[in-house]
Amino acid sequence: MIKLHMSQLEKQSVSLSGDEPAEFLDLGPHASFEVASPMHYELRAQLMSGGILVTGSLSYRISGECGRCLKQVSPEIRVTDFAFDVERPNTEEVDISEEVREEALLVLPFNLLCSEDCKGLCGQCGADLNEGDCGCPPPAEPGPPPEENPWAALDQLDLK
Ligand SMILES: [Zn+2]
Ligand SMILES: [Zn+2]
Repeated sequence: MIKLHMSQLEKQSVSLSGDEPAEFLDLGPHASFEVASPMHYELRAQLMSGGILVTGSLSYRISGECGRCLKQVSPEIRVTDFAFDVERPNTEEVDISEEVREEALLVLPFNLLCSEDCKGLCGQCGADLNEGDCGCPPPAEPGPPPEENPWAALDQLDLK
């Protein structure tokens, strides 16, 4: 949990840094990759007339399979210079975990790729096309749909 203390903020802006465990980010059951490291954060918070302004940066690592070639990859995710504000609470402590979590998830790719121009796997032999051409003929152009033949059903009947 990432919390700010009002008594500190009343005096001066506050710098916070630390790590939250990977579970903090909770990608949900449908994510195609997982968080593979604690999330490191460096934050600065200050009181403004309207509330509390929080700025900072985050980094963590995700891992999973490339969506095209299925290679295991674990890129580092960095969020630099985010900023959000929260309302000034009536309590001494304000929990900003949810806001930070949102900033951290905002930049996640929809599909994990080993590189933007990953060529993926050959649909015919399964070879990794990043390692060279596998020599399979290019997939055939889909032809026109077969014409409706009203007699086709009859052809299949075994007329004796
Ligand atoms: Zn790939
Ligand atoms: Zn092939």
